[in-house]
Amino acid sequence: MAILVLGGAGYIGSHTVYELIQAGREVAVVDNLQTGFREAVHPKARFHQADIRDRAALSRIFDQEKVEGVIHFAASSQVGESMDHPLQYYDNNLGGTLALLQEMTAHGVDKLVFSSTAAVYGEPERVPILEGDTLSPTNCYGETKRSMERMIGWAARAHGLRYVALRYFNACGAHPSGTIGEAHNPETHLIPLVLQVPAGRREKILIFGDDYPTKDGTCVRDYVHVSDLAQAHILALDSLLAGGESDVFNLGNGVGFTVREVIETARQVTGHPIPAQVAPRRPGDPAQLIASSQKAMDKLGWRPRYNRLEDILATAWAWHSAHPEGYRSR
Ligand code: UDP
Repeated sequence: MAILVLGGAGYIGSHTVYELIQAGREVAVVDNLQTGFREAVHPKARFHQADIRDRAALSRIFDQEKVEGVIHFAASSQVGESMDHPLQYYDNNLGGTLALLQEMTAHGVDKLVFSSTAAVYGEPERVPILEGDTLSPTNCYGETKRSMERMIGWAARAHGLRYVALRYFNACGAHPSGTIGEAHNPETHLIPLVLQVPAGRREKILIFGDDYPTKDGTCVRDYVHVSDLAQAHILALDSLLAGGESDVFNLGNGVGFTVREVIETARQVTGHPIPAQVAPRRPGDPAQLIASSQKAMDKLGWRPRYNRLEDILATAWAWHSAHPEGYRSR
C-alpha cells in the first residue's frame, strides 16, 4: 500500500517524501513540475508527472497505485502572484482539490492530509494564534486555502472521508543531508533572499517596512524547519490510519523573530556582512504571525527538533551555498 503525495516535487512535499521513505513507507508522487523539480523527488518514490486537475490522469494513477492515504501539497503558493492572477489560483488550487476529492471518493480512498497555511488567518486578532481564531485571509492565496479546507470539510462530512489540515507558519531550512532544499522561481521568501547575498547573487536585502508596531519596527514571523513540518505530516497520517478523527493544527515554533533578527542571525551563520536597506511595506503583510502549536504537540505528539533560528539557517545555508542556482533542471 502506498502513500500518494501530490506536489511531492515541491519544497515541503519533497521533504515529506524523504521522511516517509526514511520511515519505511512506500511512496508515489504526483507533480506537474510547474514549480516542482524532478530532481527533488526521492529516488525510491515512484513518480507520475501529471496535473491533478486532469481527472483522467488522476484516475489512472489511483487505478495503478494501491493508495492507503493521500498527502496533498499540489497548489500555487505565491502571495503576490495570487493577487495579480486570482482566477489562476482558483483554477489550480480549488480545481485541483475538487478533482482530487472526486477521484478519492470514486476510488474509495478516505484519508487525506492537507497542506494549509497561516495565511488563512489574515491579520490576527491576537498572538499566539489558536486554531479556533477567526479566519479572515488578506490575500487570494490564503482565501483559496481557506476554501480548500472548507471543500474538504464538506466532502468529508458527506462521503465519510477523514482529513487533517496543517496550517504552516513560515517554512524554512533544508534537509540536513544537503540534497534537497528551497528553490522557488522567482524567489520571494525572506530567508532564501537573505542568503542570496552571501552566495554572491544579490548585493543587499530589502527590509519591507520598519514602522510596524513590533520591537524593532519590522515584521515578526514564526519560522519553522521544513523537516519538522514533514514529521508533522507523518504523525497526522498515522493518526488517520489509526482511526483518528478529522482535525486542523497550526505548525510553528511558537517564537517570533523580526526581519532584522533574521538578517542578523544570517550574518552570524554565514560570516558575511549582508547589507540591508529599508524599503516600503509589502501590501498585505500582517505585522506579527506567531503560532500556538500546543494542539499539535498534545494531540499528534509533534516535537519540532529545530527550535533555534541559527540551526534552521545553518541547514538553509548548507543547501544554498552548495546549490546557489537551486536544482540543475526541472
Ligand atoms: N521580507 C522582507 N524582505 C524580503 C522578503 C520578505 O523584508 O525581501 C519580509 C516580509 O515582508 C515578511 C517577512 O519578511 O514580513 C517574511 O516574508 P516571507 O515572504 O518569507 O513569508 P510570509 O510571511 O509572507 O509568508
